[in-house]
Amino acid sequence: MGTAFWCIVEDDRKGQPKKVMAEVLTEAGRLSGGQAEAVWLTDKAAPDGLERLAEWGASKIWLLESPALAPYRGEAWVPVAAALVSARAPKAILGPVTSRQREFLARLAARLGVGFAADTVGLELDGDTLVATRPVYAGKLLSKVTWAKTPWVASLRPNVFKAGDPQPGRAPVVERPSFTVPDATLTLVERREEVSTGLPELTEADLVVSGGRGLKGPENFVILESLASVVGAAVGASRAAVDAGWRPHRFQIGQTGRTISPKLYLGFGISGAIQHLAGMRTSKVIVAVNKDPEAPIFKIADYGIVGDLFEVVPALTEEFKKLLGK
Ligand SMILES: Cc1cc2nc3c(=O)[nH]c(=O)nc-3n(C[C@H](O)[C@H](O)[C@H](O)COP(=O)(O)OP(=O)(O)OC[C@H]3O[C@@H](n4cnc5c(N)ncnc54)[C@H](O)[C@@H]3O)c2cc1C
Repeated sequence: MGTAFWCIVEDDRKGQPKKVMAEVLTEAGRLSGGQAEAVWLTDKAAPDGLERLAEWGASKIWLLESPALAPYRGEAWVPVAAALVSARAPKAILGPVTSRQREFLARLAARLGVGFAADTVGLELDGDTLVATRPVYAGKLLSKVTWAKTPWVASLRPNVFKAGDPQPGRAPVVERPSFTVPDATLTLVERREEVSTGLPELTEADLVVSGGRGLKGPENFVILESLASVVGAAVGASRAAVDAGWRPHRFQIGQTGRTISPKLYLGFGISGAIQHLAGMRTSKVIVAVNKDPEAPIFKIADYGIVGDLFEVVPALTEEFKKLLGK
């Protein structure tokens, strides 16, 4: 068994690794004593994307580049990655929690016959054993799990693990192992559309503004979008708002939506049901605005305003504009 900690690269599908990789690489480097290696399955890696991985701490980059690897299909990726694991025997395989890696890491672990700790919020070495901490029961409890054998496979919740300072100018060490992509007969994705809101991506954002049933209708999300564009936040929603058809499902925060851990979460007209909290309770600072002083969200909020969001949101937006000189 080797000693390297592999980090499966999540990219923006345009040749650039996502910034969450800085967190995964830093954590892998901390646990392995600097042996964090990136593994990038892609149809095209931009040269400055490789540089960024090195600057974020990748001591080596295993670049598996082929048009046959895009778009992502587990049937194509898993055998390619599993063959490389067999040849190189990493000690651990880590990746960020994203829709793609949720599936990929679980399938890879199953293929390798090893355990998978999903959605971890802490990793520590106990002697020569890795111990992962992960939330269970919608975030009510934390459980500690470990593995019977290596490689240890785990997904890391974004914005929980600290990214180290980048090392500018660190040259990437790139290995291009030969590999064959099996004929994956299954075509699941026929067309992919990129929809840009002009705002940061929900799971990557440092600031998130979120709206619930208290918004009363889809047209009212515009006030949250104005606030978000002033402070540079992403806009999320509760399931009640999504089920009502006010926002697409990709904006849903919670147990059956996205898990976020931004530096600041601002919730408007959201009651704070346990299933919503499951997706945002690890936010660093939580601010809640609700007209009901008994709303459960106030129990976990760091700051709360009991008031009508239709008055509070425009007032906050004006104050932020003044503060930020916009
Ligand atoms: C299996 C399962 C999975 C689920 N998964 C999720 C999930 O992933 N995400 C999720 O969010 N939910 C999820 N839910 C649903 C969850 O239980 C709640 O029903 C939902 O979160 C409620 O959304 P809400 O807070 O927007 O609405 P409500 O609970 O109706 O709350 C609306 C709040 O707005 C306040 N309000 C109203 N008007 C104003 C105003 N003018 N100004 C200020 N405040 C106002 C009210 O006081 C109230 O507190 C799940 C449920 C189940 C059973």
